[in-house]
Amino acid sequence: MLGDRPRRRDLLIEFLHLIQDRYRHLSANHIAALAHEMRLAQAEVYEVATFYAHFDVVEDGETPPPSLTIRVCDSLSCEMAGAEALQKALSDGLDPAEVRVVRAPCMGRCDTAPVLEIGHNHIDHATPEKTKAAIAAGDTHAKIPEYEDFDAYRAAGGYEALAALRADGDWEELQDKILSSGLRGLGGAGFPSGKKWGFVRANPGPRYLAVNGDEGEPGTFKDRYYLERTPHPFLEGMLAAAWAVEAERCFIYMRDEYPAVLEILRREIAALENAGIVSEGYIDLRRGAGAYICGEESAMIESIEGKRGLPRHRPPFVAQVGIFDRPTLVHNVETLYWVGKICREGPEILSGTVKNERVGLRSYSVSGRVQNPGVYLLPAGSTILDIIEAAGGMLEGHSFKAYQPGGPSSGLLPSSLDDVPLDFDTLQPHGTFIGSAAVVVLSDQDSARDAALNMLKFFEDESCGQCTPCRVGCEKAVKLMQTDSWDQDLLEELCGVMADASICGLGQAAPNPIRLVMKHFPEEI
Ligand code: SF4
Repeated sequence: MLGDRPRRRDLLIEFLHLIQDRYRHLSANHIAALAHEMRLAQAEVYEVATFYAHFDVVEDGETPPPSLTIRVCDSLSCEMAGAEALQKALSDGLDPAEVRVVRAPCMGRCDTAPVLEIGHNHIDHATPEKTKAAIAAGDTHAKIPEYEDFDAYRAAGGYEALAALRADGDWEELQDKILSSGLRGLGGAGFPSGKKWGFVRANPGPRYLAVNGDEGEPGTFKDRYYLERTPHPFLEGMLAAAWAVEAERCFIYMRDEYPAVLEILRREIAALENAGIVSEGYIDLRRGAGAYICGEESAMIESIEGKRGLPRHRPPFVAQVGIFDRPTLVHNVETLYWVGKICREGPEILSGTVKNERVGLRSYSVSGRVQNPGVYLLPAGSTILDIIEAAGGMLEGHSFKAYQPGGPSSGLLPSSLDDVPLDFDTLQPHGTFIGSAAVVVLSDQDSARDAALNMLKFFEDESCGQCTPCRVGCEKAVKLMQTDSWDQDLLEELCGVMADASICGLGQAAPNPIRLVMKHFPEEI
């Protein structure tokens, strides 16, 4: 099955995928054989296989799972749209010997909640009937949407900007252009994008570029939105950034929950190779395996190296010591999409005019109780009321109660705070942040307390387990939040320990939903 692929350690996760895809599980024999083939200890293979949710490790004597698995998304937007009832109806109505129904974290399709996945096929606005019809038709493959391919992009002048840069461009000029556009890291950190290039270049080569395509923050689906429509601005932006830091290779780490995007990228990377724009193997597409924590950049780098996604201690920073201990430039997908657009169309492309003033633009992923959930490109600093208006207003019969401003790490704000600009640096006084701009709108028919519990259950599942405040803290918080009346003193003490003593952002931000619900929705707890 491995054929003549090099038995490199960093390809371990790719090889585990090969076995999982063919056999639908990993047995002890598979692990022993793979360890032997790769000259690794069986424990090393086992620890990686059991870290990632998309590998089904079957112990000796256990029954392998059935050939078909349905994953029902249970993140906030899907839960609000009835995911629990959907999962129950499917579990009751399908033969467990043939189909396994499990809950799963966000699939990045919150605009079409509730969502489930059968094999690699996603069912939007899922119902038991639709799901059963797909199973009967054997419809388990990813659906590739219509998108702008290499020929169309190139015919419209695509890759001319990259060719000009490669011919006689000045990287510092490009950096100035990026800085003047106001582009900041759109994965959530908000660091000025061009500045990173200088840090990476300050370290001797070889250097690498890594694309963080592990868009796992529940409620976020903007990267998928852009890649499923027009993947080449992103690819051109990535190659421009790689040129700027003289990267020897680009790694794209794409989440496994996006099979259509993975297929589009495979096709379009091949087209770039055929056209001679990149040499074969220059772009290394890696498939995640269902671990939210790999969206943290150092955990992603561990995963690219074929290991468990455990965030690293810093310093050293990845700009100095990244993939294979080399200086590595890490950018999010949407950030590079805008780098590509800025290269071609100038820094003004990332701004619009509002009331005669030039303002930067942000992509908000909007879901929940609005008429038209989707991705909206709006002026940075739009308020929640602007966003609800852009999304067609509230759903019929629902009145606005609360909102998640930027993924579960940002917690929940009440409708009374409807005039706060949603941007980098504007939400800190309210104990939250914009993150990846994943906005979920709640109505009078939703419970803030249940929403916070949903968020903490997610963190409990996704904690990598490396540090005690987060691993034990999330579990303990979920237990405390399930009691009728919250022990607020104890929860606050726990939140303090988690925020102060966790290694990475997951554990540090996990208390936000708890604290904000205690502050703004005391009547519910
Ligand atoms: Fe892992 Fe949580 Fe610690 Fe981050 S805070 S390193 S996710 S255990």
